[in-house]
Amino acid sequence: MSDIDLTPAVIGGPPALPLYREEHAALRDAARAFVGRELAPHADAWEEAEDFPREVFRAVAEAGFLGLKFDERWGGSGPDLLAQAVWIEELARCGSGGVAADLGAHSDLACLYLAHAGSDDQLDRWLRPSIAGESVGALGVTEPGAGSDVAGITTRARRDGDGWVLDGAKVFITNGSWCDYVVVAAKVAPGDGAPSDDPHGQVTLFVVEADTPGVERRRMSMLGWRTSHTGELTFDGVRIADDHRLGDVGGGFGLIMRNFAWERLSMSLGAVTAAEEGLAEAIAYAREREVFGRPVASFQVWRHRFADLATRIATGRALTEHALRLHVATEAALRVGEPVPVDTGELVRATSMAKLVTQRLAFDVADESVQVHGGAGYMMEYRAQRRWRDTRLGPIGGGTDEIMREIIARTYGL
Ligand SMILES: Cc1cc2nc3c(=O)[nH]c(=O)nc-3n(C[C@H](O)[C@H](O)[C@H](O)COP(=O)(O)OP(=O)(O)OC[C@H]3O[C@@H](n4cnc5c(N)ncnc54)[C@H](O)[C@@H]3O)c2cc1C
Repeated sequence: MSDIDLTPAVIGGPPALPLYREEHAALRDAARAFVGRELAPHADAWEEAEDFPREVFRAVAEAGFLGLKFDERWGGSGPDLLAQAVWIEELARCGSGGVAADLGAHSDLACLYLAHAGSDDQLDRWLRPSIAGESVGALGVTEPGAGSDVAGITTRARRDGDGWVLDGAKVFITNGSWCDYVVVAAKVAPGDGAPSDDPHGQVTLFVVEADTPGVERRRMSMLGWRTSHTGELTFDGVRIADDHRLGDVGGGFGLIMRNFAWERLSMSLGAVTAAEEGLAEAIAYAREREVFGRPVASFQVWRHRFADLATRIATGRALTEHALRLHVATEAALRVGEPVPVDTGELVRATSMAKLVTQRLAFDVADESVQVHGGAGYMMEYRAQRRWRDTRLGPIGGGTDEIMREIIARTYGL
């Protein structure tokens, strides 16, 4: 970590439109201390081992950081989406993209689907132990033949007596190779209860426990996120009871769309912090390193490049916080059954724009950091290479940059 802080400083009192409240500042301090004490010191060793201990989930839970956006009824301390946003930003300082990814896929993907669609019994069975860090969840949407086109999935669920039989495969599933359960998107035929012939209307979610007969999985080797347990799963005649169905038959596509907003936001929050930290590291190195008898940071080309990146970071943060405000207002209304004060198209546009801007930004910062390090940037002993590998996922995962542009264009009727 460096002493250069690119987070905006507030001089002379709170800004006109505060996003976070006082308790969030205290939470940020606690989260930063926890990450600095319990995670960051181990990052290099975990990266070297391409692994990290599962007990980390429990340690994070015991410190109270897995339940921030969930109801007290299930062991959470919320729901407070702003508190979760603070945690995501601080977790991004842990020094290992894979650790942040595994914790995020559990809490911000799998658990969120449970919270939005689960019955009381389901929440008691899967969400409660997840918030306690005793159980690890994953979300399985992407397949070998369908990623960007969610409605193109071919995993099938067919009725079998009172329950279901699942057949198919999922790929690139974060936590897939070590999770206790996975929220699986599968298609149900109209003859088995889907409301329509339309592929979107057939998508249905199920919770599949990883030790169910017929589930096979394998960890994948990746460019970055080396500590992450991203993997592929196959389902071969997997029998599950109907109480494993999450939400209505045919209701999966709508749930996926609703949860995409938070997925994009959580990725944006992490990327802004990663960009801030990456730029601070790049500047620190450039100040230290002398060439032609002067610090690299003193050359105008680098001063301007850093200025451009700092400007893009401020833009990314502003857009992310704008999208966060819209999302918080939307979810608050949905929770109490009041009319949503935000146009859905506006929310979709803002979250997609935030993701589009921030993911490429975090990678560009990492790329310039490698560059300003010169030959050292290519060496494994410097952090820059890890940032470069870890941030490269952003423009791909959770919907690619091209898909974000597609969605944004559509919101303008293009
Ligand atoms: C490390 C990692 C972790 C992941 N974790 C999860 C997870 O936990 N759960 C999960 O379900 N998924 C996960 N994913 C999957 C991820 O969301 C998908 O990889 C992503 O959505 C892209 O899908 P795809 O890989 O099938 O690419 P494809 O859809 O095959 O796309 C290939 C290329 O075509 C482009 N393209 C596609 N459609 C269009 C279009 N209409 N116009 C222009 N270009 C287009 C894409 O942008 C891309 O460049 C993860 C992926 C990775 C790499």
